[in-house]
Amino acid sequence: MPDDLADGIQRLAGMLAASERCVAMTGVRLGATEETEARAAGSAWGEAASLEVLLIEPGRFWANWLPRAVEASWRTVTPAHLALGRLHDAGIITAVITQAVDHLHAQASGGEVVEVHANVLSCRCERCDDVYALSEVQGLIEDSADGVPRCTREGCCYPLRPTGTLWGEPLIEAAIIRAWDLAATCDLFVIIDSQLRTDPMAMLPSVPLQAGIPVVIVGTTRTHYDRYATMVIPRPAPEVLPGVVDLLVP
Ligand SMILES: [Zn+2]
Repeated sequence: MPDDLADGIQRLAGMLAASERCVAMTGVRLGATEETEARAAGSAWGEAASLEVLLIEPGRFWANWLPRAVEASWRTVTPAHLALGRLHDAGIITAVITQAVDHLHAQASGGEVVEVHANVLSCRCERCDDVYALSEVQGLIEDSADGVPRCTREGCCYPLRPTGTLWGEPLIEAAIIRAWDLAATCDLFVIIDSQLRTDPMAMLPSVPLQAGIPVVIVGTTRTHYDRYATMVIPRPAPEVLPGVVDLLVP
């Protein structure tokens, strides 16, 4: 292990040990490469998960969205999720705010996870609020003539939509309020594997920074907050978090 990495892990562990309310923020895919996140934030998901396409060409929307949602639903927790989950369950981290839609943080920890985009594991009917698991939606699409899943409640038949937010619509208000509240009241804010390029989440680190709360950034992508951070560990989360756990969790 290079000295700078060992030193970063040691310093982060020390800051976490001294913190009473640490909040972690993660990007769209913890432990993923920069390239993966760049794709996710760019045209692939942007096109596949567009509100406009859902409204204008629903058949095309579902043909694009479903395979990507299914892929995300098949992902399993990584060593980085498990390490963060152990810090969370040990009370060393108070809450996790995530841009990920794969629901893996909630699988890795019983603590508070704020999914600002919700997740891709379900769809819902906006008319009667019924919720459908992704596997049910898959079946409804296969059985429909136009590739659009519809509510199966008697007399409803309204077209379904993903439960999570789509590109082109605002994030879930309750999640955003909670994320801003956590960022304002923490005593240490740790950003992990997020490029911080998607608004409004790209603005979230300014909340602790303006309050004088220390911010640590872990990840290989440079961000526009690096210069303001107390510490930047420019290494992938899977190289950093397990080492922190080894120092802090018995
Ligand atoms: Zn319905």
